Amino acid sequence: MASLHPLIDNGITPGDPNFSGGTLSCLCSSDPVIVTLSSNVAHNHACGCSKCWKPSTALFSIVAVVPRDNLTVTSHPEKLYITDESAAIQRHTCRECGTCMYGRIEKEHPFKGLDFVHVELSKEKGWQEPQFAAFVSSIIEQGFDPKGMDEVRGKLKGLGLETYDALSPPLMDAIATWTGRKSGKLPAE
Ligand SMILES: [Zn+2]
Ligand SMILES: [Zn+2]
Repeated sequence: MASLHPLIDNGITPGDPNFSGGTLSCLCSSDPVIVTLSSNVAHNHACGCSKCWKPSTALFSIVAVVPRDNLTVTSHPEKLYITDESAAIQRHTCRECGTCMYGRIEKEHPFKGLDFVHVELSKEKGWQEPQFAAFVSSIIEQGFDPKGMDEVRGKLKGLGLETYDALSPPLMDAIATWTGRKSGKLPAE
């Protein structure tokens, strides 16, 4: 079967709850873009959507969030550009190697304040391990044979990753809470 993602194909290594951050490097062999995170990540997950950056051989990306105040571009910010200015998540990507270094939300949005990052770009160990798989059915839209979905879901579950065709229930609840508060159907925080 095709690779789910190199980080999970051979099992999942648990993260270290006391890990306090590290650096992400793009894939350029010289003058890489370096992003420094001053905390561990949260909500790390496999994502089957078409927008998240992933290795060309992988069916899923591995993506997590970090508070935007904990993220700093520490080397070669001039190499970054935003792949799609109109997208809710602005993906800051290296123009030389095509690696997405972080995604940031600037407009009003339930996840504004969180940046999206890929910890596979770090050499450090201890990052939170993937917790679930999101947007699993979306891999079909990118050309994956729907007949193989039972096998994909079975493999993800075998790794301990519950599979969803949207985000996980806590994240869907967070979005709905934000939307309910915005419309006034839910009392403000
Ligand atoms: Zn690069
Ligand atoms: Zn995604």
